Amino acid sequence: MENNEETYFETKCVHSGIKEYEYGPVVPPIYQTSTFKFKSAGHGAALFAGDEKGYIYTRMGNPTIEAMEDSVAELEGGHKALGCGSGMAAVHTVFATLTQTGDHVVCSNAIYGPTTTLLNSVMKRYGVHTTFVDASDIGEIENAVTKKTRIIYIETPGNPTLAIADIEAIAEIARRTGAYLVVDNTFMSPALQKPFEFGADIILHSMTKFLNGHADVIGGVIIVKDEETYCQFRKTLNQLGGVIDPFNSFLVHRGIKTLALRMERHCESAATIAEYLESHPAVAKVMFPGLPSHPQFELAQKQQKGPGGLISFELKGGCQAGRNLMDCVKLFQLAVSLGGVESLIQHPASMTHASMEKEVRLAAGITDGLVRLSIGIENVKDLLLDLEQGLEKVGKVRDEVII
Ligand SMILES: *Cc1c(COP(=O)(O)O)cnc(C)c1O
Repeated sequence: MENNEETYFETKCVHSGIKEYEYGPVVPPIYQTSTFKFKSAGHGAALFAGDEKGYIYTRMGNPTIEAMEDSVAELEGGHKALGCGSGMAAVHTVFATLTQTGDHVVCSNAIYGPTTTLLNSVMKRYGVHTTFVDASDIGEIENAVTKKTRIIYIETPGNPTLAIADIEAIAEIARRTGAYLVVDNTFMSPALQKPFEFGADIILHSMTKFLNGHADVIGGVIIVKDEETYCQFRKTLNQLGGVIDPFNSFLVHRGIKTLALRMERHCESAATIAEYLESHPAVAKVMFPGLPSHPQFELAQKQQKGPGGLISFELKGGCQAGRNLMDCVKLFQLAVSLGGVESLIQHPASMTHASMEKEVRLAAGITDGLVRLSIGIENVKDLLLDLEQGLEKVGKVRDEVII
């Protein structure tokens, strides 16, 4: 038995965040209301003054949203969480809360495309400057930090190259410099990686992906470690207004109940498919943290409980072969996003990372021929058959437009 003091993770997935409600429902009710009645003028004033606990207005707090937030905070081992309207609302809220004009950010170059764009556009306009580095190289981070560095921002495994950043080593640099280490933990979910255990200061997620897991919600979340930081973030989120609504919170909270189960299947099937692809004659290279050929296989073993459900690979036929494969598969859905129960296939260079400048994209290892898979929970044999028939046709399809 690994922990007999604390409840097991699978159990927390089912029970976390749930409280007692009127009539005793097993599942938190959806409080689909924008505002809450005060019992008296004095009660309203006391709530606004913070002298009494309660709800005022849903942008500032709502029992359904709070139940989901408490669940995520518990799963990540944090103090409290803040539900956001999307992963990008969470990313923006983090930068808007922690930075001001003149501040510097050190950011991994293999991250979610729109996060790069946010830093290069809106944040830059507000005078916050970013240095992009290969976060799998500690030396690059070490060299990039300055006295003005306020945030070191990483995603690990990185998107879409699945390069891994050493959270513990980067947390040490952040501590020395007085910067916050922010980890976007979307690709792993708390089932596979706990950034707080390695010294991260702030965690965020696009709940659109594994946490909700059913490709039917857009949502994000920020998890913090203490009350002071929580209040600081809550204030900014109230002002920016990028909150999640009660119904989407309900759906995410429901999705979380099966998180541990789903992650097990995602990891198991992805490992099988990655091995299959690596041995396929049409495939040039596979990037998957569970393969011994991954450059940071050891590090993945240390900081991740599993390899995750994402695979990136390159075909020998390059970009055109990749595009042909996307048009030939039947079960894999040709769509961006990830972390849902259904398997997806996409082309980062022309889709999720198309907004990046070409040189920057190539420097981050996102080549023109890279294909990304998000492995769902279907029977892996069906997924293998689908790839098999697709790969067989690759090359046989007439070359059309080349990007
Ligand atoms: C999808 C994603 C985001 C953005 O989330 P949205 O919910 O689409 O706004 C941020 N980071 C990562 C790693 C993602 O995959």
